[in-house]
Amino acid sequence: MDLSVVIPVYNEEESIQELTEWIEKVCTGDRISFEIIFIDDGSSDSSWEKIMLMAGKNQFVKGLRFRRNHGKAAALHTGFNEATGDVVITMDSDLQDSPDEIPELVKMIRDEGYDIVSGWKKKRYDPFIKRITSRFYNGTARWSSGIKLHDFNCGLKAYRLEVVKSIEIFGEMHRYIPMLAKEAGFRKIGEKVVEHRSRKYGVTKYGLDRFMKGYLDLLTIGFITRFGKSPMHLFGFLGTLMFLIGFVMAGYLGVKKLVFINHHLRAPLVTDSPYFFIALTVMIIGSFLFLTGFLGELVNRNSSERNNYLIKDKVNI
Ligand code: UDP
Ligand code: MG
Repeated sequence: MDLSVVIPVYNEEESIQELTEWIEKVCTGDRISFEIIFIDDGSSDSSWEKIMLMAGKNQFVKGLRFRRNHGKAAALHTGFNEATGDVVITMDSDLQDSPDEIPELVKMIRDEGYDIVSGWKKKRYDPFIKRITSRFYNGTARWSSGIKLHDFNCGLKAYRLEVVKSIEIFGEMHRYIPMLAKEAGFRKIGEKVVEHRSRKYGVTKYGLDRFMKGYLDLLTIGFITRFGKSPMHLFGFLGTLMFLIGFVMAGYLGVKKLVFINHHLRAPLVTDSPYFFIALTVMIIGSFLFLTGFLGELVNRNSSERNNYLIKDKVNI
């Protein structure tokens, strides 16, 4: 099979049929063999009935339904597990992404050797507040990951099958798939300007809290990709640094006291100096950071993933 289209669905009953027919038209027109995998993320409207209806009419439609709402990342992850096409394309189910982009995306993955091609909604039809925060967020993501994408969170993306089978997304991490993929060793990440349309039916499923959560997840990803395999490298470094600062301060106070005594002067109490308390606090925090590092290493030791490496090629094996 050439293509799997993975579509997360959360209360999008009005769009399912239109989207299915549109994808079918584009793919058959371009002689692409394909399947559509709908993941109903616990919808409370008739989305699932619509998916069943489509699946009854068309062999290429497959569907899965969660018992409750788990979020877009969970839906994508489950869809990726089911995908079998050489190219996997994710697409929102609200008709904001246009299926007309499919043939070009498939071509870029299959013929031009890209691991990932992300859509770029250069001209967006979203509320002002979302456009601004999105710009800010993309800037940070670009800067921290070194991946030159304009639109990390575009729902329309294409992947080589191997990519989606190798990365694991959860929580709200659908926004950071390019980073996870880069970390896993898939380096050829491209971008294609795609048409964006305003939402035709239904409402957006995210509120303003997405920006807060997005940022926290960005920090998590940054931490995991840099120090996930060796937390001691971060915590040990910070711990040593803090401990040393405290130690030097305390040492200074101690030596000063000795010098005073040596010269038979009345030495001030060590506890009179604010440095004493700062030194104590800093040394305690330093020790905790160190312990955190050790605990992190112990957790890693027990991880079933600790020796999972992606093998690119083999010879004589
Ligand atoms: N979605 C989902 N589970 C959720 C929230 C959203 O599967 O908990 C789907 C939703 O049906 C849509 C896509 O994720 O297909 C993007 O959601 P939405 O259009 O609301 O986001 P926006 O376009 O406003 O970023
Ligand atoms: Mg949308």
